[in-house]
Amino acid sequence: MKKLFLLFIPLLIVTCKQIPTPAVVVVKEEQPVKKAKNVILMVGDGMGLTQISAGMYSNGNYLHLERFPAVGLHKSYSADNLVTDSAAGATAFSCGVKTYNGAIGVNADTVAVQTILEEAELKGLATGMVATSSIVHATPASFVAHVRYRKLYEDIAADFLKTEVDYWVGGGKAFFNNRENDERDLYAELRAKGYMVSDYFINDFEDVSTNVKGNFAYFTANKEPLPKAQGRDYLVRAASQGARFLDKHDKEDKGFFMMIEGSQIDWGGHANDSDYIISEMLEFNETIGKIIDFAKRDGETLVVVTADHETGGYAINPGSKMDTIIGAFTSDYHTATMIPVFAYGPGSELFNGIYENTAIYHKMRSAFGWTEEE
Ligand SMILES: [Zn+2]
Repeated sequence: MKKLFLLFIPLLIVTCKQIPTPAVVVVKEEQPVKKAKNVILMVGDGMGLTQISAGMYSNGNYLHLERFPAVGLHKSYSADNLVTDSAAGATAFSCGVKTYNGAIGVNADTVAVQTILEEAELKGLATGMVATSSIVHATPASFVAHVRYRKLYEDIAADFLKTEVDYWVGGGKAFFNNRENDERDLYAELRAKGYMVSDYFINDFEDVSTNVKGNFAYFTANKEPLPKAQGRDYLVRAASQGARFLDKHDKEDKGFFMMIEGSQIDWGGHANDSDYIISEMLEFNETIGKIIDFAKRDGETLVVVTADHETGGYAINPGSKMDTIIGAFTSDYHTATMIPVFAYGPGSELFNGIYENTAIYHKMRSAFGWTEEE
């Protein structure tokens, strides 16, 4: 009997080998049913499943995320830490590489990697970014800058002169025109390049017309913008006007790429402050609603909503009610839990399942119909 059993073992191995490899499935996944002309990536920084749940319950049990047909999960860890930071997290989305915490648009060897926004520019698409942090903060920075360390804000600002981002709105004016490391006035340099540049000190965002021929840049703060609860109020308008701006400025009809960040959901997590998280979540939710409305009208826009990581180890504790969240936290830093991904529009089917954070870069490129060889 023993001998007979042993005889069967090689047979079993052969049988295992004959199981088809998943290569066919991968090819299917890489080819969207319909190509996306425009891609809008929305990042809720620090927005884990609990942040989403708390926002939903606090909003009459509804979020615009429920309008998304495709839902997946990504693994957020970075190259050097199971718990990523926003720089490595955003570089995974922008460049498709796992890098070390603190890296902006560079790989683990500090070598610059072309971002999806830069590639879009080179291909003649319009590009834009909106953030509720400074525009040189880790997430937006990772789409246009290539620096070895996230806090090199003046170097990051200088990289905004190297790529013609058609439209951007965010804080951080001081890093452009009140610089400590050199005498450059990047604000003036942007104007010389044909940008319509304005800022919070001259005009409120709602009083500035985005109906301009050239590129548009608006600074919402000298450094970091205020929390929503303290009066910051531009995200919804800047995002929805931005999408329309880019659609109009897409002169060659090639489409656009846009990144919108709800930056301060993360800061609410760092502060272990449920109310801060929820107010930022609800503004981000309203923005998602406007962007989905745009995509629905347009019919050629892929919208992807995700986060770089969770912040706070946030939980909704017993005793909570729909309108009264009793929040608890395990940390004042980020955590390594998997992060939800929501997709709407052409190519959205690519975003179902569980995958690495870097796959989001590849899926967005696939949705555009860009091949790996390009
Ligand atoms: Zn953070």
